[in-house]
Amino acid sequence: MLYIVLVLVLAALGLLVTALMTASSLWAWVSIGLSVLAGLLLVADWLRRRRRSAAPAVTAEPEPEAPAEPVAEEQTALIPASGDLGDPADTPEPAVDSTETETTADSEPGVEETPEEDVAVLADLEDEVVVVDEHPRYHLRTCTWLGTRETIPIGVGEARQLGFTPCAVCRPDATLVAAHR
Ligand SMILES: [Zn+2]
Repeated sequence: MLYIVLVLVLAALGLLVTALMTASSLWAWVSIGLSVLAGLLLVADWLRRRRRSAAPAVTAEPEPEAPAEPVAEEQTALIPASGDLGDPADTPEPAVDSTETETTADSEPGVEETPEEDVAVLADLEDEVVVVDEHPRYHLRTCTWLGTRETIPIGVGEARQLGFTPCAVCRPDATLVAAHR
């Protein structure tokens, strides 16, 4: 490449000399043209060399890129971190817990203690009590605990047979046994 430039420059010089000797501006313009061409070639050569020298820098770039990857890993590591941050946002869970404790707090009244002789009486009674689905107590219809809950009427004997236990709030056993006597 540099040889071509050298030849072009020499040709330009020769043409310049020719232009001076012949006093013809045409040769002078051609000489200028060759000089410009030689200059362009030099620039092109320089750019090519720079690109080639930049190429090793490109292969060396994976090293700078390698640190960039850990950065990306850090970013992915931030996602679980933000997920952790999301957990506090899941405070609805504790809120659910609190509602659960609330419901369990007022949901299950204590069990009425029924004397042995009353148990024998109740087993044969068909007086109606009410139960609430998924709750272990049976109640009198008037029980304050029932509130707006959906009740299921059932004979007290059957309720006991099914494993339901009497509510300590409305005390159905004592009430029903007293009514029976
Ligand atoms: Zn009750």
